Amino acid sequence: MNVDIQSVVIGAGVVGLAVARALARNGREVLVVEASEGIGTGISSRNSEVIHAGIYYPDGSLKARLCVEGKQRLYAYCDEHGVDYRRVGKLIVATDEQQHAALQRLLQQGRANGVDDLQWLDGPQARELEPALSCVAALWSPSTGIVDSHGLMLALQGDAQRFGATLALHTPLLSARCIEQGFELHMGGSQPMTLCCRELINCAGLSAPEVASSIVGLPGAFIPRAHLCKGSYFSFSGRAPFRHLVYPAPQSAGLGVHMTLDLGGQARFGPDVEWVEHIDYRVEPNRAEGFYQAIRRYWPGLPDNSLQPAYSGIRPKISGPTELSADFLISARAEHGVPGLVNLFGIESPGLTSCLALAELVVKHLDDR
Ligand SMILES: Cc1cc2nc3c(=O)[nH]c(=O)nc-3n(C[C@H](O)[C@H](O)[C@H](O)COP(=O)(O)OP(=O)(O)OC[C@H]3O[C@@H](n4cnc5c(N)ncnc54)[C@H](O)[C@@H]3O)c2cc1C
Repeated sequence: MNVDIQSVVIGAGVVGLAVARALARNGREVLVVEASEGIGTGISSRNSEVIHAGIYYPDGSLKARLCVEGKQRLYAYCDEHGVDYRRVGKLIVATDEQQHAALQRLLQQGRANGVDDLQWLDGPQARELEPALSCVAALWSPSTGIVDSHGLMLALQGDAQRFGATLALHTPLLSARCIEQGFELHMGGSQPMTLCCRELINCAGLSAPEVASSIVGLPGAFIPRAHLCKGSYFSFSGRAPFRHLVYPAPQSAGLGVHMTLDLGGQARFGPDVEWVEHIDYRVEPNRAEGFYQAIRRYWPGLPDNSLQPAYSGIRPKISGPTELSADFLISARAEHGVPGLVNLFGIESPGLTSCLALAELVVKHLDDR
């Protein structure tokens, strides 16, 4: 069967759905193809569900710009579409003098990124907010929040379909070929098909480099190597010790083992950092030891045997363990020379927060063709 359609989005995670919505709203005919049986079964359902403020990311990076813009868009979108969220606020804590200096740098970085509501707190001020905390200083970020990521994806899907987009589940892209004025796509699944499109947007998350490698006509030089960086979470069985999110001063590959709350008020800790070769979401109970140590630096009252393995997620890194953390890579014609093709690589945190801003950027790249 041959079908012709203007734009095909690969992957129905939060980013693919936001891109599909933006393209359809823009008047394009859009098909989203998703390999698995439902939307949002990948990275988008295995994260902290935090609406980040935009503090951590280097000056001028896409992460900084899209997180700050994405946060504003996301709060407005949730209000308009009845998606559940709470602007719960977060404390980033320093537990010693070295971290105190790191926190000062973070304050400067956040302000440089346009996060203008950060407040510096000394230890006693932080404990006024959270009496169980042990810290010498803290940054208070009132615009950080939590969101129902599945509710968000359902709203994006509904919105995209209202604007005319179509979603095909159980439909993996097997390979593609650059042809005159577009792409020929080969899909597998229960109804294998070939179709042609003008625009191809690769939002395949962890598989984005592999999907890009399957596009005949795209030079390999424009496809980064995928690195998998797992993060495990443990749930806390008792009453949540804090009312706000609590993060340690950040570490290299992640933001440190932090405490987030779900919308029901239940606490969980994570994610830690584990570089892996394969996708395996099992949470090893013996990782709990590292959690107790990390958490007790800022919450000495954590009781023994109170953490249970919960779930894990895998960061779709495009930089390795010994490299500086890479920025989001939105690879479009200006970079690789193929009109109508946009690859989204390395969409790790803050990708959930940034999804609406990422989607607008993709539309802009395609309109610039
Ligand atoms: C541990 C962890 C914690 C995080 N915490 C936060 C946070 O608190 N706040 C935040 O803003 N961000 C956070 N993130 C980042 C955020 O979760 C991601 O940036 C975002 O979910 C990425 O969405 P996506 O749509 O790109 O990928 P995915 O959700 O993985 O979607 C990709 C989709 O593509 C599909 N697919 C793959 N290959 C094919 C193919 N060949 N054909 C068709 N479909 C295909 C997959 O099945 C999948 O559904 C976190 C990430 C991790 C790993």
